[in-house]
Amino acid sequence: MSTGGRVRRPTPPPAEEAPREEPTPAPPTPARSPAREKRPFLLDFFPLETADQTRLHRFYERLGEGRLCTTRCPRDGELHWPPRTACPKCHSEELEWVDLPESGHVYAFSAVLGGAPLGMETEVPFAVGLVDLDGAPLRLFGRIEGRPWTELRIGQPVRVEPYDIGDGRMFYRFRTVD
Ligand SMILES: [Zn+2]
Repeated sequence: MSTGGRVRRPTPPPAEEAPREEPTPAPPTPARSPAREKRPFLLDFFPLETADQTRLHRFYERLGEGRLCTTRCPRDGELHWPPRTACPKCHSEELEWVDLPESGHVYAFSAVLGGAPLGMETEVPFAVGLVDLDGAPLRLFGRIEGRPWTELRIGQPVRVEPYDIGDGRMFYRFRTVD
């Protein structure tokens, strides 16, 4: 493709002719506008809960009534956790809501001492753990309140505690029972 004409190109400055080695390679940059890249990364730890946001809104509505519930499949009796919109076993979408026991025992726990999710930085240290619900074949993960994590023990009795996270949304946690 010779046009016979000369294309005038600006001479790159010398610094660009010999690329310098970067100390550490930059990670791949996603295709975003520069304006978007300048925004802080926002991590909302909690789910959206209203009927126009999730088909699982009844779970959160019942939490607001002080009830922890989940879905069960009437076809095969499968009890789900977390609640589902379709049975993972038979794929039926005709599921029923059932209340779960309000008490349980700590199966395992750990402490968050740093690196907490946004909005929880001032709450460290706090305990999280797995809780076996009494009388239900479910092991739930969640925050454990009530006593310092250094005083928690495996087998610690706890109860389910629905709570308002502060903006009207509901979630659940566990609280130790003496
Ligand atoms: Zn099923």
